[in-house]
Amino acid sequence: MIPLKLRLIREKNRLYTSMLKLISIFQRGPEVYIFHDILERKEDVKSEFALSHASFEAFLKAQLQKGRKPLTFHQLTLQIEGKVPKIKKSFCVSFDDCNTSVYTRAYPFLKANAIPFILFITKDLIGKKNFLTAEQIMTLAKDPLCTIGSHAVHHKMFRYFTPNEAKAEYEQSRRYLQQLSGQAVDCFAFPYGRLVEVSCENIKLLQQTDYKFAFSAIAGNLNQQWISGKYYLPRINVSEKITQKINNLK
Ligand SMILES: [Zn+2]
Repeated sequence: MIPLKLRLIREKNRLYTSMLKLISIFQRGPEVYIFHDILERKEDVKSEFALSHASFEAFLKAQLQKGRKPLTFHQLTLQIEGKVPKIKKSFCVSFDDCNTSVYTRAYPFLKANAIPFILFITKDLIGKKNFLTAEQIMTLAKDPLCTIGSHAVHHKMFRYFTPNEAKAEYEQSRRYLQQLSGQAVDCFAFPYGRLVEVSCENIKLLQQTDYKFAFSAIAGNLNQQWISGKYYLPRINVSEKITQKINNLK
């Protein structure tokens, strides 16, 4: 039996997700996409956290063909900070966890098409099997298209951290990634980004750090910032299912 408190939080998450979904029908805005592992063959894709190489390229090509503008990190920041109006037909590419395929499969395409991207890196995963090495991160970070963001020290649910542990996750990952990449690390993405896994307390705690903004894993667009706030911005996970829909529309 699930405890009442957890059931209430789940319900809150469900309501919040449905609300964003409903509003996004009427209120279009810049979209931030989440990608994870990019696999060579479609048959190997077994979850919504992987995408085939062909679908990855087809999805982004479709965005460009529709006249949607890929945002640089600077343009994205100015829009989130409200310094410039939001560009409705625009998008931003982000990767969570950062598998080796970001370097071997995604990067050549992004480079050839001058599409900027954010890498949300988990410190603990660097150099592990099938994840970017420190050297690969350093190489990517030298490219002006690449922005380094934090995805914590450990890939765990923040809800189970004490406030001090959460703070350490924010600060230690930021310090390490800044040193490694030579870039200022200004943005954060919560591992397992739903409210059930993150908790409102941890979002408030993040606002007291030096991060300028942060992302959830709840679908929506940046025009919904008036609901989400700057520290729990919506993003859209790109799965094979989503890319199939786009290909069918063509
Ligand atoms: Zn993750």
